[in-house]
Amino acid sequence: MAARGETIELRDIPFSLDADRLLEQQRLRPGTDYAETFLDLVARIREVARPKAIYKVSYIEEKAEDSVVFNGVRFTSRALRRNLDPVERVFPFVATCGTEADAIEVPPDDLQQAVWLWSLKEVLVDAAADHLGEHLATRYRLTHHATMHPGSGDVGVWPIEQQQELFSIFGDVEGRIGVKLTDSMLMIPTMSVSGIVFPTESAFESCQICHREGCPSRKAPFSEEVWRAVCED
Ligand code: SF4
Repeated sequence: MAARGETIELRDIPFSLDADRLLEQQRLRPGTDYAETFLDLVARIREVARPKAIYKVSYIEEKAEDSVVFNGVRFTSRALRRNLDPVERVFPFVATCGTEADAIEVPPDDLQQAVWLWSLKEVLVDAAADHLGEHLATRYRLTHHATMHPGSGDVGVWPIEQQQELFSIFGDVEGRIGVKLTDSMLMIPTMSVSGIVFPTESAFESCQICHREGCPSRKAPFSEEVWRAVCED
């Protein structure tokens, strides 16, 4: 087990860029010029990509009405506080596609290649987040766990500005895994994700407390019941 407070890095993260499956997903016919250009891009990414993640094992130091404290930092969110009601140990994290894949450039006027590059980097950050989840489940024997991210769910559920607090508990995130936080709370590389993993028996998803319609990334339908349980006064 890791010592309390230590930042742990995951670097050798496996990922799969299966050419046949990717061609099918992109609806590209093998042998066409488009398919060849796409496969060249896949090969460039496969050669350099190094998705990464960091996390900490953190223990809740205080639970207030609408906030929790761990690593000496206060996180203010009623939904987070309620989700952590029965929890003593959490795993703050940052995961990323990595600066190596993010440095790949495509011709500036080629929108199609830009879209492909975006979706391939998404595969990498998903691989990093999945690997982190599997690592935590195995190493800390979590039977079920869920994740919350600053800025996800309805506006105000957990303000995005709390990215700063989250990053502060790791120290030099950019030095460790190359992810930096801008003044507007965006992460660079943009294909990065940050948040808190916590053990739970419920299948909580932030999308259940998000009213946004037509979101292409929605993982679960909005739930009035969950919203009432974690967001209502
Ligand atoms: S529905 Fe979309 S915007 Fe809302 S929390 Fe889910 S992924 Fe985020």
